[in-house]
This record gives sequence, C-alpha cells and structure tokens, in this order.
Amino acid sequence: MYGKILPLLLAASASLFASETVVPSLIIGGGVGGGTAAIYLSRAHFQPLVIQGSNPGGALAQSESVENWPGALLVRGADLMDQIQAQAVASGAEYRNEEVVSVDFSKRPFTIVTRSVTHPQDLKTYRAASCVIATGSKPNFLGIEGEQEYWGRGVSNCAICDGSLYKDKRVGVVGGGDSAVLEALYLANIASEVDLFVRKDHFRASDETRIEALRAQSNVTIHFETELTEVLGVESGVTAVRLAQGKKVALDGLFLAIGSTPNTALFKGQVKLDEAGYIVVKEGQETSVPFVYALGDAIDPLFRQAVSAAGDGARAALAIQSKLSAQAPALIAAYRKVDLEKPLKQLASVIEVATRVQFEKELRSGELPVVVDFYATWCAPCKRIAARLESSAEQLKGKYKFLKVNVDEMGDLMKSYQIRAMPTVILFDKKGTLLEKKVGIEEIGDLLLHLEGAQ
Ligand code: NDP
Repeated sequence: MYGKILPLLLAASASLFASETVVPSLIIGGGVGGGTAAIYLSRAHFQPLVIQGSNPGGALAQSESVENWPGALLVRGADLMDQIQAQAVASGAEYRNEEVVSVDFSKRPFTIVTRSVTHPQDLKTYRAASCVIATGSKPNFLGIEGEQEYWGRGVSNCAICDGSLYKDKRVGVVGGGDSAVLEALYLANIASEVDLFVRKDHFRASDETRIEALRAQSNVTIHFETELTEVLGVESGVTAVRLAQGKKVALDGLFLAIGSTPNTALFKGQVKLDEAGYIVVKEGQETSVPFVYALGDAIDPLFRQAVSAAGDGARAALAIQSKLSAQAPALIAAYRKVDLEKPLKQLASVIEVATRVQFEKELRSGELPVVVDFYATWCAPCKRIAARLESSAEQLKGKYKFLKVNVDEMGDLMKSYQIRAMPTVILFDKKGTLLEKKVGIEEIGDLLLHLEGAQ
C-alpha cells in the first residue's frame, strides 16, 4: 500500500516547492528551546537552519550558575548552550549569525528575511517548509529619568553579568518577583549592601524558601511600597537613586528585575498573539498558522524555565517530523544539493593581552591608534561583540590595532580605566591617549561602523 502512495506523495511534495530551494525547517532563535528543536530535527535528518539572532545562546547563556537543569548539579549557562549547539551541529544543524528582520507566513513555503549580525547591511531571504519561533523575551525598563543615561554605567538588568563589578559596593535591585529575589540573593554575596525596592507591600515572588533566605541576609534591606523616580550619577556612573517620597539612597549600581516582554513584534499579524503579546499555541506547539510552531518564553509568561522551553522544543520538532514526513525526503534531497554559503572563516586579528607590560607596549608603540575590548568569559554580550570586533579588525588591518583584555585576569587595568560594565571598548590614539569609551553592543557597533566608514 505504502509502496504505491509514497512515490505519489514525494512527487506531490517536490512539485509543491519545485521552483526554489526550500529549507525543510528554519528555527528563529538559538536559545535552549530553539537548540533542543535543532537537536531533535537534525537527528531526524531534517538539517534545520538556526537563525541565532544577536543573542547567541539566548537568556540561559547569561546565567553563571544553572542548578535546575536535570542531570547537572551546577552548570554555567554559556557552557550548557555551547554543548546544546555542538550536539545539534554534530547531527547536521546549521547555525547562522543572522537575525530575522521580517517573515511572511501567508503562504508556504514561508519567506524569512534576515540580516547579518556582524554586517547589518547584508540581507538574505530564505524559504522554509516549516518554521519554529524561539525568540524568547526581553527585560522591561522603569522609564524613569537617568535610567538610560546611566545604562551600562551602573544601571543593569543582569546581576549575573555585571554583579562582580560591585564587590564590596552598595547596590539596589528593583522588583518583587522571583527574578528580583534571585538577583538580590546573588548580589548579597558580592556587594557590601543590597537595597531591594518593591512597589507593593508584598512580594509577587512565589519561592518562599528564597524569600526567607533573602530576609535572613544581614546586608539586605527590603523597602516595600517604594518606587523610584530618578537615577542620579556623575560622569563615572551611578551614585544614588531618588525615591517617590523624595528621599535619596546612595548606591553604586542599580539592577532592574521588573519582568519581561516577549520578542514577538515581528510576528504580529502573522500568527495569533494574546493581549500581552505572547504567541498562542495549540497542543503540540503549533501556532494559528499550520507548519509554524512557537515555544519557550515567547509563549510562556509564567514558567519561563529552560527545561520547559527545551520540552517545547522537543514537542515542536516531533510535530514537524510527523507533519512533514511525507514531504521531507524530497525537500531534504533538494536542500542538500544547494551549495550553502560557508560560515565566515575564523579571523584572528585581535591580540589578546596577557600582562600589563604587554598592554602598555602595544598601546604606546606609536604605530597605530588602538581599539581595546575589555571583556569577561562569563559575559554573553561580550561573546556577541567579539565576532564583530574580529571582522572589524580584519577590515581595518594596517589602520588600527585591536587588543582584548580579560578583566578577570587583569583587574588592575579594569580599575585604571574605570570599567563598570561589559563589554566596554576604548579607542586610543597613536600615543595611547584615551579618545572614546563605548559601553554595550549598540555603542560599540556604532563606533566600529564609524571607524570602518572613515577609512
Ligand atoms: P514578574 O512579572 O513575576 O515580576 C515583576 C516584578 O516587577 C513584580 O514585583 C512587579 O510589581 C515589579 N514591577 C513591574 N514593573 C515595575 C515598575 N515599573 N516599577 C517597580 N516594580 C515593577 O517577573 P519575573 O521576571 O520576576 O518573573 C517572571 C516569571 O518567571 C514568573 O512567573 C516567575 O515566577 C518566574 N521565575 C521563576 C524563577 C524560578 O527559579 N523558579 C526565577 C525567576 C523567574 P507588581 O508585583 O507590583 O506588579
């Protein structure tokens, strides 16, 4: 019976997408959910293409210690994400350093347009027989004066990324949810004092054990019914916050933990969203559009766990396998024939500085202006900007020298140049005089574009 039907199905499916090369399955987002979908689909020989976006590894990659991943007592988020990606790639998945700029799910094959993360002017169009949305969510902001001005200079939304910069200093945390409690607990072990500002008279957080642990910390003060109206500071960073009651509280850093918004704006009008912008899915992760699946924090305001996103990823992948099984062989055969563009070759034009003496020597050699990347191995945004810096260094060879400094190994340099957030890039002239200091991916990207454009 199958012997007769299968060739007919294959012929039908091949003709469905006859005139173009179609990716059997395209995954938008390279976090834990997207990565798990990639593992399952690649093991089933679907050769998924993962558009990993500007935040490789997703939210989990920013977590210094993951303690609730089954089978691992304690694991660094970035290491876990590297392993998930390696596992998917070993079975045939391909990761692209691109982000999606638009999708058209109105007809199959779906159209997905991307731009390169390192060269934003480079656009590509893909056609996909199925699509998995695994774009996660992003943190919310207070919208108060000084918040953006001191962003990266004392204001942060990631204690795990930036907390170590506040050893023996006084920091504040805003929020009353589980994230705020976790961040305050994490910071209590590093900072001398932690002030937690909760706008209601009670916590929203549900983990009583953690709340008790927080109350037991002698260096933590919990301020209920307290809202912030302004972040105050000087050139080098935050010095205080102003409360709605008018009182000032002196602080060296402020961490926001006030919830998040799903990264689903791209999909508005394409798939059904709920009022808060989360994608609505049916059993099996399918969205309102057949062959489009969604998972993880993009659909889930409540649990938002790595392991639940992974479970969603497995479900979406299995649903795709079952739904596409008739079309898959023809699609995959056609896809294999395509000479896919090879990933950018690894460049190594950035010199890693190992000692202060080497740093001074390179900086003051008088040959070229110098761009210095201050990074840390635990900082996910640093990883993102590293590829961009390598590509810039290659383009600007002979015009600028590029150095990188691991701040955990060269704490004296970090102090000398007042590095208060990661990544920070400093531009020096030929004589070693500081010209510009840029913090965060956007500012650094703008600086590099400027240097590239000016050559
Ligand atoms: P939540 O939405 O749970 O909490 C956000 C907190 O920020 C609330 O206390 C809210 O106050 C406060 N807030 C929001 N806007 C402002 C503002 N403008 N000014 C002051 N305060 C503000 O977000 P979370 O990120 O904490 O958690 C999200 C989900 O993830 C939750 O379901 C949580 O349980 C879960 N989670 C679970 C963890 C775990 O290990 N099990 C860890 C972290 C999160 P209000 O209460 O007044 O609205």
